[in-house]
Amino acid sequence: MQIFKEIDALKAYLQQIKKAGFSVGLVPTMGALHEGHLALVRASKASNGTTVCSLFVNPTQFNNPKDLEKYPRTIEKDIALLQAAGCDVLFAPEPATMYERPGVIRFDFGNLDKVLEGKFRPGHFSGVATVVTKLFNIVEPDQAFFGQKDYQQFQVITRLVEELKFNVSLQSVPIVREKSGLAMSSRNMRLTEEQRKKAVVLHESLLDARSKLLEGKPWLEIQSATTERLNKTEELQLEYFELAHRDNLADLDGVHPSRGIILIACFVGPVRLIDNMLV
Ligand code: AMP
Repeated sequence: MQIFKEIDALKAYLQQIKKAGFSVGLVPTMGALHEGHLALVRASKASNGTTVCSLFVNPTQFNNPKDLEKYPRTIEKDIALLQAAGCDVLFAPEPATMYERPGVIRFDFGNLDKVLEGKFRPGHFSGVATVVTKLFNIVEPDQAFFGQKDYQQFQVITRLVEELKFNVSLQSVPIVREKSGLAMSSRNMRLTEEQRKKAVVLHESLLDARSKLLEGKPWLEIQSATTERLNKTEELQLEYFELAHRDNLADLDGVHPSRGIILIACFVGPVRLIDNMLV
């Protein structure tokens, strides 16, 4: 695997790859890699000659400085995992390489970045859109791979690509879970054994809500029962548990729940976790 920290060197290398006729797949990550990330790498390898994984803990998408500081960093292990997965290129720039000076451009996605994650993490999606724009311009990938775990992020990036006419095909990869049902996340590393057991409740709540919705139970009833149950549990603090339209994350407004997606964000101890499930 080729490892680059500098933009120019990566670009020169990729120019040769593209000249030789290979397509390029990009997998953007913030490192502390797990099977969820590796599923994206494998999906990219299945349809591209060259796979580039980027590893960059993007400061502009953290609205909470403590979260940025505590974000796990395991670069040596990440390199070994990527190598074992057959990733071709790792791009791991320093913050000063991606942000030579503080940026002034901000993105606004209308309703899409005001709800759910956007409501609780102001500025988050502007930071995501900024770094993804930079990565698309640097790598110029044919395809880019994102996880369904960050469903709202995928919607935001889809809009970014459509409006700014990026020449890239976006691919969404299903959520990879632990045996317990817990969605894999770099943040899971920060959970104690006890908290990890409690965290299973996110997935369980989604499963339970989906089956009740399909039985015809009203959403508001499901939502308030789940909220009460979670908030009664020690160490859990729910931020949102919402049903939204899967196409635009707006209210379902009379549309049949089967067009919906249920999304959850919940603190388990000090760690904020998210998960979702299509109805
Ligand atoms: P992150 O490093 O958390 O920014 O994630 C990088 C990419 O991996 C994003 O597109 C995530 O949606 C995706 N990802 C993270 N966790 C999972 C998972 N459990 N299953 C599938 N994709 C994931």
